[in-house]
Amino acid sequence: MAIYDQHMHTYFSPDASEMFEEYLKQTTGPIVTTEHLDFHDCYNGGQDTVLNYVAYSAKINQLNEQYDKRIRKGIEIGYTKESHQQINEYLNGKVFDVQLLSVHQNGIYDFLQPIVKEKKAADVMDEYFTLLLAALENFSTANILSHFDYGIRLFDVKVTDLQKYQVTLKAVLQKVIENNMAFELNTRSMYQYGNVTLYEQMISWYLELGGASFSLGSDAHSIADYGFHFDEAIALLKKYGVSTVTIFEKQRAKEIKIGTFKDSTIKIK
Ligand SMILES: [Zn+2]
Ligand SMILES: [Zn+2]
Repeated sequence: MAIYDQHMHTYFSPDASEMFEEYLKQTTGPIVTTEHLDFHDCYNGGQDTVLNYVAYSAKINQLNEQYDKRIRKGIEIGYTKESHQQINEYLNGKVFDVQLLSVHQNGIYDFLQPIVKEKKAADVMDEYFTLLLAALENFSTANILSHFDYGIRLFDVKVTDLQKYQVTLKAVLQKVIENNMAFELNTRSMYQYGNVTLYEQMISWYLELGGASFSLGSDAHSIADYGFHFDEAIALLKKYGVSTVTIFEKQRAKEIKIGTFKDSTIKIK
């Protein structure tokens, strides 16, 4: 099997412009895109970022005729308590292969906005991990917890700092397990934002708690980041004795042996 990157965006997300056809060229296997759903999107001036499901499905159906049904449908749900009902109403009756659960904002600002840098890392961690736990408690039907460290990407956080929040973070991981979700290794967080050691800590807590389901996602917004550093992420999982990664089809989990997960002929930038 070729690289299966379970977190990518196309022009159906407002912050990306990549085409499905370009992603299809990166692999001979299936692809999935996970487009944004963020109500009151602080990153987008407070507008609702809503995936046009009809257009998205129509485009995928059309390309699937041409490309041997290789494209799957996904969505990245940006959770806030305030938008819970809107999210449910949106999802009602729509079919996705995979739903990512993300926390991007606190209702006032997105955690990648410059204002966050003016705050104390400790306060932001406290707030962000609490929001993450609430998202998992309130929205248990998604398939993957994305980028657990999104809220702290702007800070240089050490493992010892992270460990101060272990009660909350272990509760987060426990919820991932209870909800039958997979824990995402967000390779841009790990290898672009330099948070690989934080991920290692989370992996070891997750395994201790009995977690076994991992997803690999680059969070690519263009093909330049497709399968970003997957080699290293796979090596890391192997180091922790993990032998499978989880992919979702029609929201059903499927375990793929890590050795067959990736086609080494595919170039990683
Ligand atoms: Zn995200
Ligand atoms: Zn994303």
